[in-house]
Amino acid sequence: MSESESLWERSCRVIPGGVNSPVRAWKAVGGEPRFLARGSGSRVIDEEGREYIDYVASWGPLILGHAHPAVVEAVEEAARKGTTFGAPTRKEAELAERIVAAVPSVDSVRLVSSGTEATMSALRLARGATGRDRVIKFDGCYHGHGDSFLVAAGSGALTLGVPDSPGVPGPLAELTLVAPYNDLGAVESFFAEYPQEIAAVIVEPVAGNMGCVPPAEGFLEGLRALTSRYGSVLIFDEVITGFRLQMGGAQERYGVYPDLTTMGKVLGGGLPLGAYGGTTNLMSQLAPEGPVYQAGTLSGNPLAVAAGLATLKELEARDPYEEISSKTARLVDGWLQAAHAAQIPATANRVGSLFTLFFHDAPITCLAEAQVAVSDRFVDWFQGMLESGVWLAPSGFECGFVGTAHSEEDIDRSVEIAHRLLGNLGG
Ligand SMILES: *Cc1c(COP(=O)(O)O)cnc(C)c1O
Repeated sequence: MSESESLWERSCRVIPGGVNSPVRAWKAVGGEPRFLARGSGSRVIDEEGREYIDYVASWGPLILGHAHPAVVEAVEEAARKGTTFGAPTRKEAELAERIVAAVPSVDSVRLVSSGTEATMSALRLARGATGRDRVIKFDGCYHGHGDSFLVAAGSGALTLGVPDSPGVPGPLAELTLVAPYNDLGAVESFFAEYPQEIAAVIVEPVAGNMGCVPPAEGFLEGLRALTSRYGSVLIFDEVITGFRLQMGGAQERYGVYPDLTTMGKVLGGGLPLGAYGGTTNLMSQLAPEGPVYQAGTLSGNPLAVAAGLATLKELEARDPYEEISSKTARLVDGWLQAAHAAQIPATANRVGSLFTLFFHDAPITCLAEAQVAVSDRFVDWFQGMLESGVWLAPSGFECGFVGTAHSEEDIDRSVEIAHRLLGNLGG
């Protein structure tokens, strides 16, 4: 029995499904997950000592790669000074200042410990501030596992085939209205039906949980106009896109500014950190200034804040966004060419360093189209790439992530491998 197999057996005995987050169980691709032992730069190494070029990046956070020296050093230094105090610390102020400086619509920001906590809290704030209960979300967008969001919730749930979860009270789920992504007409109809009841519209400004799906021309602008007209709060869930597309996230890229922004993933540099922020007016509704409650024993945790601060400093100093975007373009174009050379239908969506390859011959602009596009071909691709030393997300409804640690050689090698693999799969 291999080390991974034995660890898997042990885990399954004492952890539900053997994993601490469902997608890690590889249900969508079959077989048993490989256990990772370490990571360095663009590579991960499993318990058997096999090395892979990693395009998962812990599902987005590791824009600087694994064990980046500046991040490791910051965490080590913070740990030596004490891991948590439950009192305000200098670096929380420094991190908040950097977030406010970087993200155009954020004047004030609260730190939490995960993306889920950020979106749950942002929605509570929107409901508290407007005195309304309904929320509009989009089919295939994922906003963490908060009860109000576990309705048509994208990749993890999709992959498992359970779009809704037992345990979410019906009366609460009914308050969540679901529109197709990129469909402004549907949003308009909801507002026409419930003009005084919709507290917020929450959207991934670039969808990343049904695969990468960019916003159609005018979509984000339309949401901005509708929410303003009806006195509803526009929430951009930038947990993936924040500090990933550029320092100011998708809002800066597209020039559309929400009332509230949720962040996580890259912000924490690989440690548990999330944040939500927005206008001072809205954020001052939060306790202890205002009546909307939200708190956390480990919120603004010194280790997480140190990792986040080190990551943001590095990103500011390096401004790597053009470089990682063009590396990603080269990778994706290479994979598309490999597919076409093998006469396998393929299309790709890419925004900056965020991408998904679909083995399909039509563009993907919403969940319904993604569902048609993801087939068994993905499983062959995933397994083949894995055997060749390329670590991809174990579901066709996920994004790939390129970061500063990926070298030009990593990209070339990944493209060569794809040519060989798809040549075999096509023939
Ligand atoms: C990952 C993700 C979340 C949830 O973040 P966690 O840290 O996993 O709780 C929320 N929104 C989006 C867009 C995400 O991709």
